[in-house]
Amino acid sequence: MNINPRKRKETHRGKDKYYQSKEWKRLRGDIKKRDKGICQGCLKSSGVVHIAGKYATVDHIIPRKTKMLSLAKQPEWMEEYDFFMLKQRIFESGYDIPENLMLVCKQYHDKKSAKEKIK
Ligand SMILES: [Zn+2]
Repeated sequence: MNINPRKRKETHRGKDKYYQSKEWKRLRGDIKKRDKGICQGCLKSSGVVHIAGKYATVDHIIPRKTKMLSLAKQPEWMEEYDFFMLKQRIFESGYDIPENLMLVCKQYHDKKSAKEKIK
């Protein structure tokens, strides 16, 4: 195995402190419970049902496009928007809300992240 510690830091999450916060950890716990430990990535992309396992990650369905935390978190005004408006906003900014998060296994996440980098 070729593990380069410098390379590991260059993920899309980088040194973002948000991913160390209690808030994110709580949200992540909620998603794990909701998805019952099953990898949603493999389920949705290829119909394979398997337990996401020890190195499971909670991933954004639409990648978060903003570095600004205040924009990534669930906005207060959200309830005022209807479903299509909400969908549009998620699509544009990749919010950190349960609707835009899913539990995935490490392999799925690594594959997806690699694809996102190429684009
Ligand atoms: Zn998987």
